Order: sequence, then structure tokens, then C-alpha cells
Amino acid sequence: MSEAAKPESERRKFRAIKGTRDILPPDSALWNWFEKTARSVMESYNFGEIRTPIFEETELFARSIGAETDVVNKEMYSFEDRPFGLDPLKNLDDFNRYIHDLERMLTSGQIPGTAANRDNIGVLKTTKEKLDGAMKKPGATIASTSGQLIEFFYFVDSIRLGDSITLRPEATASVVRAYIEHRLDTRPGDQKLYYIGPMFRRERPQKGRYRQFYQIGAEVLGTSDAPAIDAELIEMLTVLLERCQIEKYTLLINSIGCANCRPQYVELLRAELRKPEIFERLGADSKRRVETNPLRVMDSKLPEEQEIIEKKLPKISEHLCADCKTHYEKLKKELKLREVPFTESPRLVRGLDYYMRTTFEITSPILGAQNALCGGGRYDGLVELLGGPKGIKGIGFALGEDRFIDAIQEAKKIRATRPVDVFIAWMGERAYPTAVRLARVLRNEKHIVELPPVEMKFRKALERADKAGARYVLIIGDDEIASKQLTIKHLADGKQEKISEDELIQYLQ
Ligand code: AMP
Repeated sequence: MSEAAKPESERRKFRAIKGTRDILPPDSALWNWFEKTARSVMESYNFGEIRTPIFEETELFARSIGAETDVVNKEMYSFEDRPFGLDPLKNLDDFNRYIHDLERMLTSGQIPGTAANRDNIGVLKTTKEKLDGAMKKPGATIASTSGQLIEFFYFVDSIRLGDSITLRPEATASVVRAYIEHRLDTRPGDQKLYYIGPMFRRERPQKGRYRQFYQIGAEVLGTSDAPAIDAELIEMLTVLLERCQIEKYTLLINSIGCANCRPQYVELLRAELRKPEIFERLGADSKRRVETNPLRVMDSKLPEEQEIIEKKLPKISEHLCADCKTHYEKLKKELKLREVPFTESPRLVRGLDYYMRTTFEITSPILGAQNALCGGGRYDGLVELLGGPKGIKGIGFALGEDRFIDAIQEAKKIRATRPVDVFIAWMGERAYPTAVRLARVLRNEKHIVELPPVEMKFRKALERADKAGARYVLIIGDDEIASKQLTIKHLADGKQEKISEDELIQYLQ
């Protein structure tokens, strides 16, 4: 039975994939308001928008986010790209054509010309000959040739048809890739770039944590690492929070040193963590990290470790080299100059080598468990790590749009809605052409106009206008056409007036 012929209860229903969601009106109005506000704040600081693709080579993220992180290890949506013109293997008769196509595409570079691919296509041909031999034996069946079939498909699978591609889990890697690719370092001054868009991580969905979520971020790339750059970026975020009227938030800052001073601190930290009276009190994860990545112990959320972290462990800010110390002191001075309140948090660390000096995070108590609104920091070594010119420094942040929206809704200060300005209640065929014409005139003047596609009884039209939150109902019936006077009703107070067409625009202003 065709799907459409089944009763509704039996028809297959589609739902959004777990961890993803639809953003519908009227909520989308708040999203649009927020994005508009963020753009306007960032543009006032002279940031320009960059739009990068949603997918990139997997290797780009593995390298920049770090192959050992959860994001890269467990959370990326990756798939193999496929060349054009390679039809999937559907039946036994296709085997020879398939192998022939693979060889042709290997030669023309349409599939990766790696040594492994070359070898595996060679082996695939041999296994195909073995399979042919087995099938030609008298009385051969699928069962008697299954060993050769399995071997054949094993090698079909082993051939890499294209590059591994990943839906972006974050956008800094893409921005830096674009910066290098388009030689933005040759443009004058620092490059100040911002982006808005969806990111993808296969995380366990919960409130405030999605598999497709939205980030707004900004990056400053250039030869300078002046603390004023860091402070201005942070100030910009606080201006955005202010515009959104989110008052309850904490800005945490820290400096995590550089390649000169961090290794010594890490050793000091490791030595402290190894002390039996401390080691015994650590959880399993932290015990492991003492050897692999002791810095990560600092951002552990385990309740029983909190006292140790707060009171017993050395703070990186007290072990900075002279340059990093000066940088950090200047950053704090710059923040004070800009009247940006901050809290120092020795626990704010990053696990990767290219992160340097300033790190920051903004949390909000109104968000519950997933309380991080925004995170950022300096990544002076990243451009070089991704093959770019030497000496280019960078700093950036990414804020979670989903969580900002939650925080705006919790704060209950801003309500973005899109009420209809004018609802046109037209009655009778003679009124319709005027209604269509006036709808166009009003829309050209940027009014939001609802024009019912079919005639409605007056009472029903009024009800509908009321539900749509319309400010005015423009009434056009036989009388109005005859007298060339429109009737306009102000829904808030029910006041009704007669006006001419010429007066309409003026009246609505
Ligand atoms: P990150 O790129 O992990 O530093 O995250 C930056 C910000 O993005 C966080 O502070 C969150 O506000 C937001 N964020 C990260 N992951 C998710 C997610 N799975 N769902 C919603 N927001 C997220």
C-alpha cells in the first residue's frame, strides 16, 4: 500500500534528529533580534563577517582542536567524500566494472592516490580472480564461495574513495584556514573577523547542550599580542551582554603562560599531584591525568577534588615568566580602564600547546548545569601549526547562541516579537483589487501586513487580526470603495476613523 493511502495513524512520521531542534516563530524573532544586536555590536568594534563552509577536511580539526580531545575523538560527524561517477556495487555482475572504474579514478586522481589505495586495488583484483575461480567450480553456490566473497568485500571497503570530511564542531580552525589560504596577513592591520552559524558535536543531548548548536564568535589575527586587543574583545562581549540585559554573569580570566614558562609549571603541578596525601584524594580521571595532562586536573568538576584544587595546588598565574606576567598585569589594568569587572580563576586552563596567555570564560548562574555562555583565549601558535606564516598571533571567543537565548529569556527583560502592523479586512469583490494594491504600498513602506487570501466575514476578520496582535485593521468594503474613504480601526482602544488613501501612510507613521 502506498504511504499516502494508509490511515494517518499508520503513516511514517518524521522527527528532527536527536539533539537537533527546530526554531519556530515567535522564538525565531528573538534569535533574529540577538543576531542583529550581536552584528551591530561587533561591527561597531570594526569586526567584519567571515562565512566559511560548514564542512572541512577532518585533518584540519584534528590538528587544531587536538587529536586527544573528546571533540575530535568522540564527537565529530565525519564521513568519506565520494568521487562523481562511481556507481555503488549492487550485484555480482558489477564487480569487473567497479574495479575498472577504481583503477581509472586512481590514475586520474579522482580518488586518493595513496600507497594503501594502490595496494588494495591490486589485492582486490587478485581476490576477484579467486572468487571467479571458486564460482566456476562445478556445483558452486553462494555458500561455497562465501569465504572469497567476504574477502572481496573486505578489500572493497578498505579503499578510501575520498578525503575524510567533518561537519565543523567549532569555527576557529576554519577562520584560521581561510586567513592562511587567502593571505589575509598581507592586508594592512589586524584582521578582525566574526562569524555566526551552526556547529555540530555528537554530545549527549540535555538542556543547553545540543548536537547542532549555534555559535557566534570573533577572532583577531595579526602580528601584535597587545593586551589591549584581549581587553577590547572582552569588553565587546560585556557590551553585548548589556544590550541583552543579562545582568547576572561572571567573567573569569586567567593567564596560562607560554612555551617558556608553562612546561615548568606543569612539572611543578605534577610533582604536587604525585604527593601521596594529594594523589590519594583524586578521582580516577585525575589520577590518570597526573601523568598525561596535569593541567586538565585544574578544570575537574568532581566535588571531592574542589578543595584540593582551590587550596593545595600551585596557581599558574604565580609561575609566569616576566613577559607573561607583564602581559597579564596589563590585561587586568586594561579591563579596569574599561570598567569591565572580572574574577581571576586559576582553574581556567587549556590543554593544548598553542594556547597562550589570556584565557577567559563567561558563566551565568541563571543557566543551571550548562552554565558557560562563552569561552575564549589566545592561540598564538595556531596559525603556524596550520601551515601559515610565522609570528601571526590570534585571540578569539565563541559564545553559545542557544544559551544566550535561554539567558535572555530567563532575564525576562527583552521580548522580541513581530506583531502585524496592519490587517486588511476586505469584503466583496469590488474591494479586493484595492486591498491587494494597498497591501503592496504598505509593505513597500516596511509595514508588516496580513492580507487574507479569501474573503472573511467582518467579525471573523477582527478576531483573526486580534490573534495576530495587529495594531490596525484596515477595513475595505463596498461603502469604502463608493465613498473613497477607508476605515481604520486601532485595536488597542477600538477607536475607528475614516481616512483617504492619500492620508494612509502618514496616519500609520
Ligand atoms: P567551546 O567551543 O566548547 O569553547 O564552546 C563555546 C561555547 O559554545 C560554550 O560556552 C557554550 O555556550 C556553547 N556550546 C558548546 N557546546 C555546546 C552544545 N553542545 N550545545 C549548546 N551550546 C554549546
